[in-house]
Amino acid sequence: MTTKVPAYAATAAKSPLAPFAVERREPGEHDVLIDILYCGVCHSDIHQVRDEWGGSLFPMVPGHEIIGRVIRTGAGVTRFKKGDLAGVGCMVDSCRECDPCRHDLEQFCAKGAAFTYNGTEMDRRTPTFGGYSTQVVVDERFTLRIPDGLDPAGAAPLLCAGITTYSPLRQWNCKAGDRVGVVGLGGLGHMAVKLAASMGAEVTMLSTSRRKEEDARRLGARAFALTSDEATFAKLAGHFDLIIDTISAPHDYNKYLGMLRPQSTMVVVGVPPQPTPVNAFSLIGGNKRLAGSLIGGIAETQEVLDYCGAHKIVSEVEIIPIQKINEAYERMLKGDVRYRFVIDIASLKAS
Ligand code: NAP
Ligand code: ZN
Ligand code: ZN
Repeated sequence: MTTKVPAYAATAAKSPLAPFAVERREPGEHDVLIDILYCGVCHSDIHQVRDEWGGSLFPMVPGHEIIGRVIRTGAGVTRFKKGDLAGVGCMVDSCRECDPCRHDLEQFCAKGAAFTYNGTEMDRRTPTFGGYSTQVVVDERFTLRIPDGLDPAGAAPLLCAGITTYSPLRQWNCKAGDRVGVVGLGGLGHMAVKLAASMGAEVTMLSTSRRKEEDARRLGARAFALTSDEATFAKLAGHFDLIIDTISAPHDYNKYLGMLRPQSTMVVVGVPPQPTPVNAFSLIGGNKRLAGSLIGGIAETQEVLDYCGAHKIVSEVEIIPIQKINEAYERMLKGDVRYRFVIDIASLKAS
């Protein structure tokens, strides 16, 4: 048995999002049924709705920064009860048996994780639909606990923007006194600034938008440099211990690699749709590393939520009704986001 719930979907590549209805399964033994309160808007939603990475599945209901209340639990559920605040990030299942799954790296499941939308459940037939909807049913193993005291709308972006920036900071051992460059001040970038600053790093914001300087400093950056000014790359040559690159559009990695100290790392988390040539000399000169990082596993996603609960860190959000989603996409494409749009799902329930 399934239940139809209201949602917003794109029915074809590049078509605007519009009202839609999705089927949610009856909660099974280990499932929780979540009444969605808020859903963050990630630039990955735009890339996939517009089929910029290829292989998009339509109709598509985006949304993988989901916060809501548990309204029902299956008989075998032990970690959640009715009334709990719960979160769902980028994955809703994986095989749970392969080597990456057994090492808390479900995002690299050998059989392919079940991503929250634009994918299928592990049966490889049932499409998954994301959080631009009023309810979702998820196995409790892929459901996150939200620490007390975190504002639910501000906590929603921790489920993607938060984990995606926390994970590389941990992987590359970000610590007090490190010089960390954060490239691009959008949803991911502003979380990277807050998280790196909370770890004691000396953060420099590298942005194309002069108007964001004051905000960058308020978020925790000690310095701000304009990447539309070529002089920045010369001035900061050899400066950083770690660079986190969140840019969503094509740009020249070589220029940014030049700002690393020898033996340091630049981690790419932004996913420009087109490939970028990297010159071997950009890496060889200085034994530098160009790394990537994809979200984080379920245990690490819980870790970032707990970390943010302890450090009182949430995202800076602009709350929108679902009816403004297409406008929000346009604004994000212009870099006009401060610093995460979050959909108030009450607007979908009322419509
Ligand atoms: P966003 O909120 O739109 O922010 C992107 C920022 O990049 C913009 O605010 C802008 O910052 C900068 N930017 C945009 N176009 C640019 C250009 N042409 N040249 C230079 N800078 C530009 O996006 P987001 O949600 O943070 O996502 C960022 C990227 O990360 C997307 O590609 C998304 O798909 C990807 N992502 C990856 C993962 C992962 O697991 N690796 C997870 C989530 C998202 P300034 O105004 O400061 O320059
Ligand atoms: Zn995302
Ligand atoms: Zn697996």
